[in-house]
Amino acid sequence: MLDVIVLGGGALGLLSAHMLALRGKQVLLLDRQGVGRESSWAGGGIVSPLYPWRYSAAVTALAHWSQDFYPGFGRRLLDETGIDPEVHVTGLYWLDLDDEAEALAWAEREGRPLFSVDVAEAYQRVPVLGDGFARAIHMPGVANVRNPRLVKALRAALAAMPNVELREHCPVTGFIQEDGQICGVTTAEGEVRAERVVLAAGAWSGELLGTLGLELPVEPVKGQMILYKCAEDFLPSMVLAKGRYAIPRRDGHILIGSTLEYAGFDKTPTDNALDSLKASAEELLPALKDAEVVGHWAGLRPGSPEGIPFIGELPAHPGLWLNCGHFRNGLVLAPASCQLLADLMLGREPIIDPAPYAPAGRLAQ
Ligand SMILES: Cc1cc2nc3c(=O)[nH]c(=O)nc-3n(C[C@H](O)[C@H](O)[C@H](O)COP(=O)(O)OP(=O)(O)OC[C@H]3O[C@@H](n4cnc5c(N)ncnc54)[C@H](O)[C@@H]3O)c2cc1C
Repeated sequence: MLDVIVLGGGALGLLSAHMLALRGKQVLLLDRQGVGRESSWAGGGIVSPLYPWRYSAAVTALAHWSQDFYPGFGRRLLDETGIDPEVHVTGLYWLDLDDEAEALAWAEREGRPLFSVDVAEAYQRVPVLGDGFARAIHMPGVANVRNPRLVKALRAALAAMPNVELREHCPVTGFIQEDGQICGVTTAEGEVRAERVVLAAGAWSGELLGTLGLELPVEPVKGQMILYKCAEDFLPSMVLAKGRYAIPRRDGHILIGSTLEYAGFDKTPTDNALDSLKASAEELLPALKDAEVVGHWAGLRPGSPEGIPFIGELPAHPGLWLNCGHFRNGLVLAPASCQLLADLMLGREPIIDPAPYAPAGRLAQ
């Protein structure tokens, strides 16, 4: 008998499976397509919430644990798989913020390195920055992770583990329930049973839980991004103004994001978003006027109230565990979320207080 079925192969499902398998569990991961093709591929990979001081203590606790974990995790995945997720520490400048005082007060309270700097420093460090910015704050330690490679590395790590089976192109249609206990899932290829099931299906998690008559407040929130290719040293730091950001990869690719749209499960990139993202890119980094847009895509974030994920067992449905609803921050929050899930499932001391993420009381029945 399998120990755990993980439903969904985005960052949250892949890393949940990895952490449980490292502890010796027999794991089956199911995805209805190839793993790592949805939001976890489409995201920007900033290893921080965009405006960390605007989030609750619950999101902050997961973010801080993960930020400390990422650099070593990236190196271990590279050693294990030969695929480099490129955890790239560039720092981040926020320009002309309205709530700078709140940001600085938060940093002091949390003991995080975030400083008010003369805007001349930002122009010196990022000479390609557009004219006219008056104020800057800087967080030197922020990294970005090359998320398409992260999911590829996780897939390779799982494929090499003898106690893991990856079953792709296998849609899950519902849950098997016996004597009030969840003991497996139904799929296009038949039933599969396990002691426990982890639901990590991103924006589709609500739909799947609906098959049990439960209302999980997780909804798709579309985000579009565009991509440029520049010289490797074009942009030495991430920059963010008016809700739009530029992220440099090590090889000179620059991502510009992102839109926030409530459009159901539609993932079609639009001309409007392209124009708006290009305008933001050229305001932040005017040299991009002469560069070609080499990519444009959309992904569906798993939106949840206040962006607080659901992590833990459903009390009315023992055997069914959630790890979903990470909204705009699933890449940064993934390590802490998956470690917390594994701790709770294995009965170990949890890395942080699990109470804010517990599904109990947060779902309508
Ligand atoms: C434009 C954009 C920018 C972003 N930028 C950042 C950022 O800078 N930093 C950050 O931390 N986060 C960012 N995010 C958010 C982040 O990408 C998500 O929070 C995270 O990827 C969610 O991961 P997930 O594993 O829950 O979902 P997903 O990656 O969407 O994976 C869900 C998986 O479940 C599978 N699935 C669904 N239904 C079924 C079914 N019935 N049967 C089997 N399998 C199923 C899907 O095929 C998919 O593989 C961004 C997102 C977007 C769209």
